Amino acid sequence: MTITADQSTDLDRTRFFINGEWVEPLGTETHTALEAATGERLGTASMGTDADINAAVGAARKALDDGPWGRTTPEERAAAMHRFADALTARAESTSKLVSQENGMPIGLSSAFNGAAPAGLLQMYAEIIKTVPLEVERPSVTGSTIVRREPVGVVGAITPWNYPQVLAMFKIAPALAAGCTIVLKPSPETALDSYVFGDAANEAGLPPGVLNIVLAGRESGAALVSHPDVDKVAFTGSTAAGRIIGAECGRLIRRVTLELGGKSAAVFLADGDIDTLLAGLGMASFMNNSQTCTTQSRILVDRSRYADVVEALAEYTRNLTVGNPLDPSVQIGPMASETHLNRVMGYIDVGRNSDARLVSGGGRPAGQDRGWFVEPTVFADVKNTDQLAREEVFGPVMAVIPFDGDDEAVQIANDSNYGLGGSVWSSDDERALAVARRVRTGTIGVNSYNIDLGSPFGGMKDSGVGRELGPEGLNNYLEYKSIYKV
Ligand code: NAD
Repeated sequence: MTITADQSTDLDRTRFFINGEWVEPLGTETHTALEAATGERLGTASMGTDADINAAVGAARKALDDGPWGRTTPEERAAAMHRFADALTARAESTSKLVSQENGMPIGLSSAFNGAAPAGLLQMYAEIIKTVPLEVERPSVTGSTIVRREPVGVVGAITPWNYPQVLAMFKIAPALAAGCTIVLKPSPETALDSYVFGDAANEAGLPPGVLNIVLAGRESGAALVSHPDVDKVAFTGSTAAGRIIGAECGRLIRRVTLELGGKSAAVFLADGDIDTLLAGLGMASFMNNSQTCTTQSRILVDRSRYADVVEALAEYTRNLTVGNPLDPSVQIGPMASETHLNRVMGYIDVGRNSDARLVSGGGRPAGQDRGWFVEPTVFADVKNTDQLAREEVFGPVMAVIPFDGDDEAVQIANDSNYGLGGSVWSSDDERALAVARRVRTGTIGVNSYNIDLGSPFGGMKDSGVGRELGPEGLNNYLEYKSIYKV
């Protein structure tokens, strides 16, 4: 089969995007991408080796050191980024559909996070970089000092499968704005969609080597992390992998940001409104079939309202529509892979074997004999010390935990190794804000949870190091340099 440069409607992706060209892999391993809702073959992708990663890093290094990108003005970069955004927008519908097929994300959500948001982030950082003072001169004791902000260099970006397009763009957009060059290593579970970035980059006229894309597994991901020509690693994924990557970057004194897992709490106070909670749970706890790092899978409820909230949650989850994510009426799609389904089912067994009370779900949905579907599941009377309350499930399995008063709510919310998302539900905004301020977490919502791409996002404790998004996200890709003058 002939692979052309623009293959946005072709699901086979057997070449890598290196130096602005579609190049043959140096190894022979391939990966078959399966559709989450059916288990059927979607397409084939090549798996990169250390040698492919090396070629991609070489192209990125050259584009930074010798190529035009490292010497462009912010205005020139912004113009290229706007063209890149337009080229992605032209492909938004097919990209959204492809990701839904890959990982089971409901199509409406996919249109927002894989269709619209990546282009939006490019446009946002294109405008921000035009306003950042990249060189200022200030008086010093001996004369003056020029304080410059330079691109950090070659960026190794490693992404997970749950929001593959937007999480890659959390890194690509600020890196491009800063003048960095990039090697993106996506996750094999979403093997196909990232190459749309290559199609769009070429259409937009991004210079060769500025963005390179090589699908690979963990081993060659590790080769990217430790490659001597990589200056900064931007990682989103599990805490377990983040620990390894962070340790290696520490050893190499390499800049690194880590966006990791979570076990976030939705805190329902005594004066909370149950209808408001149910209206917001779709985003707070069930977004992308709960395959979301900020999923609020611990639902803490004031004991005075506990029975009513548990009842309402059971009813709510029983009524969620589970099915093919390409059907716009579907609220819960399948898990991304069979392996992941088995992991989620394992946690349901953990709940069943504990003292917790299963109040809804707990198995595979009736009538779904293909694909990797699981019933939205709620366990009540979970203790915060239980495995189900400590570990990230990454699927629609909720643990409801009672508390007595706002102080205990804060104490339980904070009794976690993680600190990524969260929410507080109360009819008194000031009371909710007082609790929100005390929870040790990177982001938290009041009576809703909607991520704001214009504000810093990231985790405390085991949920990560550093922040992406907002104007602050640019700081990850700029280095300060002081030039002393007499
Ligand atoms: P994962 O850690 O298994 O894999 C993530 C990526 O890292 C993949 O591309 C994988 O190939 C690569 N990788 C794994 N080990 C590596 C290593 N040692 N060196 C280099 N690369 C390596 O995670 P996943 O299962 O793909 O994603 C789910 C996890 O991601 C969850 O824990 C979730 O909470 C987390 N996540 C966090 C955020 C956030 O912003 N904090 C966002 C989305 C997902």
